[in-house]
Formats: sequence, structure tokens, C-alpha cells
Amino acid sequence: MTATRSVLAAQATDFPRWFQDVIAKAELAENGPVRGTMVVRPYGYAIWELLQEAMNRRIKATGAVNAYFPLLIPESYLQREAEHVEGFSPELAVVTHAGGKQLEEPAVIRPTSETMIGEYMAKWIQSYRDLPLLLNQWANAVRWELRPRLFLRTTEFLWQEGHTAHASAADARAYATRILYDVYRAVMVDVLAIPVVPGRKTRRERFAGAVNTMTLEAMTGDGKALQLGTAHELGQNFARAFDIGYLSSEGRRELAWTTSWGSTTRLVGGLIMVHGDDAGLRVPPAVAPVQVVVLAVKDEAIAAAHTIADELTAQGVRVTVDDRADQPFGRRAVNWELKGVPVRIEVGPRDLSAGVATVVRRLRDSAKTTVNRTDLAATVVAAIDADQAHLLAEATERQVSRIADVATVEEAIEAAASGWARLPYDAVGEEGEDRLGESGITVRCLQRPDGSLPVEDNEPGLTAYVARSY
Ligand code: AMP
Repeated sequence: MTATRSVLAAQATDFPRWFQDVIAKAELAENGPVRGTMVVRPYGYAIWELLQEAMNRRIKATGAVNAYFPLLIPESYLQREAEHVEGFSPELAVVTHAGGKQLEEPAVIRPTSETMIGEYMAKWIQSYRDLPLLLNQWANAVRWELRPRLFLRTTEFLWQEGHTAHASAADARAYATRILYDVYRAVMVDVLAIPVVPGRKTRRERFAGAVNTMTLEAMTGDGKALQLGTAHELGQNFARAFDIGYLSSEGRRELAWTTSWGSTTRLVGGLIMVHGDDAGLRVPPAVAPVQVVVLAVKDEAIAAAHTIADELTAQGVRVTVDDRADQPFGRRAVNWELKGVPVRIEVGPRDLSAGVATVVRRLRDSAKTTVNRTDLAATVVAAIDADQAHLLAEATERQVSRIADVATVEEAIEAAASGWARLPYDAVGEEGEDRLGESGITVRCLQRPDGSLPVEDNEPGLTAYVARSY
């Protein structure tokens, strides 16, 4: 453990630096050559793939289907929705030259695809029978971010973006809400073991062109907030701009109601920031590319290590054998700790003759326990399940303990130095949001007293969650 500490900044001293160090040492990603871009290394990508599978399955369970739309969007499309273009303009990358010539119409590299997909929805929807239209795409998007940070805010990121059209405002709201809870929150809590606070964004934090943005906010290890996913009600703004209309059952022409929702590679950043510790990454078993590493201490133990691995593979465990017996054992162990592999099994010649193996649970206290060879597979499978639950419980405990209930904006600013603050939104208001903003603090989201989501900006009695954020 001590060896590990020296290769990473300590969380308590410099959390952002620790985050960068973990990403580098665990071989998750690197900076790309163009500022703000990211190279996702195989280990990081394997986590993303598992997460993506879990997300894709749940998206499809809501009835949405996958499709693909072009990366390049005619500039004129973005201009059709005034708020949308105003909000996104500063972040756009625009192709003006191609094939050695200036383009007649510049093409925007998609920052998001409401406009492109809106154009096609208008073609594909004729009557109420064509609704709802539930589309999703897995793609990359580009937003020219001023303060990029690996995984959390890159200029190019990977994501899924959902775009749907409905016959009524109520249907659109119900569907966007279902995505928020049954897809996003389910993946965050059940798969990533990240507790999240759901809420409505204030007007100032809302997606450009939306009438309502619903968010899920996670608390990072240093007590800040991270917006992990958003679902937007777009009202009829894009339907009007792109003429997404339909004939109702009474034969009247109506405008559709649309939604959009997105989640990105930021989720991997969330996993690092929520679960990591001073020894490195800690990966929830559900998305761990390697759930168990079997480490052969010496050459004589390599065959036994493979046998153990085979047993675990047969039980559906993702397992790797580390048979680099010629390399220092300590360094190998530290390396697997850095990578956050949930369970390490160590087998040495002495263990073999005693009929035991050593089990180290990274997601607990990393204490070593000796397990009988015959009980090994069952013990490890049980540990994987229990430790997934343990990670969630630990993160939930931290979140609960670091939210301070306060009464005024001044108290909220003070509390946000070490965690989140919760206070009546009536005590904040738009003027209070300005004051928070001057201290680099934002209203993360609004909730009703019972925890449900408001449907209006000015509902009385709302609770505001306030924090610094990444
Ligand atoms: P939006 O389309 O703006 O609602 O973005 C959808 C989600 O993408 C947000 O909730 C963030 O979690 C995430 N996100 C936004 N910008 C970036 C970025 N530059 N890099 C990575 N993730 C992002």
C-alpha cells in the first residue's frame, strides 16, 4: 500500500491531481494531441463497453431503437431554433473547407443532434399512429470546452443521445421521466454503485432549447457535484422549428412534443471520482473488465492459478491470471490495486501445499484472508456480489453525511467548501443564484419536499441542492 501512495497524489491534498494520476497509472486514458481530446486506452474502454451494454439494454427496454445520423450538420439547421443556437454557438466546431475548397454551407460537427434528427422526424411522422417515435444513437459529439478534463469534460466525447417525439406534453414528460429513473438512475445505482440525487435544473442551468431539464447529480470523493446524465423535455420548440407535425385521430394537424436525453464517457469519470481511494481506482464488479485476478507468486503456482481461474470463469466471473512470476510480486500486487480489480487471489507454493489461497478484497479494506481451496470459488463469487453492494452503501453514507441543511445563501456558500448544501429555494431565487455563481457555486437541482420532481420553475416550497461542481 505504501508503495502505491507514492505514485499518486493524495486525495486529501489535491483531488484533481489524484484524479489525473489515477487515469494515467491505471492506464485508463491519455490526452489527445488536440487540446481537450482524449485517447481511451483498452482498460478504460473495456469499462465503457460494459457500462454501454448495461445502458443499451435498459434503453431498449423502454421501447427505443438505435439508429445513426451524420456527424456533420448543415449550419442552417442549428439556426432554426434560436435558444439552441445561442446556447451552443460558443462550443461549436465548424467545417468550412473540405476537398480543397470552401464549402457553400459550413457544416457543424454535431454537439448534439436535436436539429439533424428533428429534420428526419418531420419526414417520418405523418399521423398519430407514428407516435411515439423513440430513437437513440451511440456516437461521438464535439463541444469546444474551455476547461477540459479527461472523461469529465472533453471536447470530443462518446455518448448515447436519445430523441423522441410524442403526441402530448404528458406523454413526453412521462417518457423523459422514465429514462431518468429506469435507465439512467438504474445504471448509476445498480451498475456503477453511484448514488444520485434527481432533480429539475433551474432556468439558468437548463439545456439550450428545453422547457425542462431533469438531472442526476453524484457526489465526488471531495464533496463536489457531478452531473451524470440529463433528460430534457423540449416542449414544441424543436417540433415548431423542424415542422414535426402529425394528423390526430380527429384528423387535425398537430405539432409533436419532443424529448432528448444523453449520457457520456463522463460516467467513467464519475466512477473514478466516487469510488477511487489513495491506492487508486476501485471498480464496481458489474463493470469491472477484470473482476478477479489470480496472481501466481512463483512459477510453481502458475498451473494452479490457471485451474482456479478456469473454475471462476465457469461460474461467469471475468478473471485474469497474472503469471509474471519473474517480476517482483509487490509491484504486481500494487498494479492490480491501482487498476481497482475487486478481488485478488494470491497463490504461492506454500499455499498450494497447505490447500489454501490468499484472498484480498480491494473494495473492502484490502485485508488478506486465507481461504480453503475447496471453498475458494464460492467465497469469491459471494465477495463480488457483497462488495458491489458495499461500494454503493459506502458512497451513499458519504453523500448523506456531507449534505448540510442550511437556511441562507451565505450558509450554503460556507457549506459548499466541504460538501453540498440543501436549503429552501425560496431563500435562493434568481438573485441568490447570482451570488452563488460569484463564489463558483451552482444550484445543482430542485426537488419537491417529497423528493419528486417539480413540473414548474416557480412551484412554492422547493428544496435546492447547492454545490461546487466538476
Ligand atoms: P446535454 O446534451 O448537454 O444534456 O449533455 C448530456 C450529458 O452529457 C450531461 O448531463 C453530462 O453528463 C454530459 N456531458 C456534457 N458535456 C460533456 C463533455 N464535454 N464531456 C463529457 N460529458 C459531457
